[in-house]
Amino acid sequence: RDTDRSRGLGDVYKRQIGNSGKNRKERPLRMKTLTRNAYAKVNLALDVLRRREDGYHDVCMIMQNLSLYDTLTFTVEEADTLTITLACDKAFVPCDARNLIYKAIALMGETYHLTGHVHVELVKRIPVEAGMAGGSTDCAAAFHAMRELYGLDVSDQELMKLGVKLGADVPYCIMAKTALSEGIGEVLTEVAPLPDCFVVVAKPTISVSTKMVYENLHANELQHHPDVAGMVDALKQGDLSGVASRMENVLETVTTKLYPQIEEIKQTMKESGAENAIMSGSGPTVFGLYTEKATAEQAAEKIRQQYGLSEVYVTQPC
Ligand code: ATP
Repeated sequence: RDTDRSRGLGDVYKRQIGNSGKNRKERPLRMKTLTRNAYAKVNLALDVLRRREDGYHDVCMIMQNLSLYDTLTFTVEEADTLTITLACDKAFVPCDARNLIYKAIALMGETYHLTGHVHVELVKRIPVEAGMAGGSTDCAAAFHAMRELYGLDVSDQELMKLGVKLGADVPYCIMAKTALSEGIGEVLTEVAPLPDCFVVVAKPTISVSTKMVYENLHANELQHHPDVAGMVDALKQGDLSGVASRMENVLETVTTKLYPQIEEIKQTMKESGAENAIMSGSGPTVFGLYTEKATAEQAAEKIRQQYGLSEVYVTQPC
């Protein structure tokens, strides 16, 4: 890899044009566009093992992507320095250096000496502050896109090492396959995917701070831990009820006391035919697994009506 000097799009395009000179006049020399979808995740199981000296927590989780996604369109133009601009269809999403997409592009630029003007259009569909890794998955999409746009010879493993600097869920989002997640979330082992089913996702209109949830969790005093190893086996056997019966999230010990609606939505999902229902991540999103599409759609409609929620979706594992 060329690490001695700045790499701009010019390097990429000159190489391409060298390969096919007949396109010299027609194609834009100094601009490139790329669109990527960034998928939401849920935690089929979430266990917290201990609080570490550095304040992070050691976790043991099963992560699964769902067919609910943001769409990111990247446009890159040649420039002498690296500049980044971002636009989003939802006004409440920050479009400056606080955005994880911005941070990913800046980190890639710094690490691989990239130049150019990068503009990103974000269509936001994943609920925000929901426990579905919305920001982290956009961040992962930005890492992948930058690698492709600049033709970088960088492995997923390398991207994951960079990604963990920006968030514990980012390495998983870069990997984007059903996985056992350990350490602070950066030690990932691929496991068998969730069998075909329908996943109803419901985001209550309450705001839950991830920091607050972890600070109020008494990790060393937890009475019960999810059977994560049993879930890995059930996944391997394609046993949906075996997976569903082991769904558990220890962070609910904090959130359901503070926000009873989380428990109520779980119960409504189960009464409406879900194999099981739990909270995802640090919440407040609740999700339930259904074997039949019609049952899932009826349950989603019931939750919309009963709780007056707009962010309720019928999704599938992907
Ligand atoms: P996690 O499941 O990883 O805990 P989350 O669902 O709790 O994530 P996000 O949706 O990622 O939370 O957003 C948390 C905050 O991060 C938002 O309030 C927002 O200000 C900021 N943010 C930064 N980048 C993004 C992004 N690309 N999309 C949405 N929010 C972002």
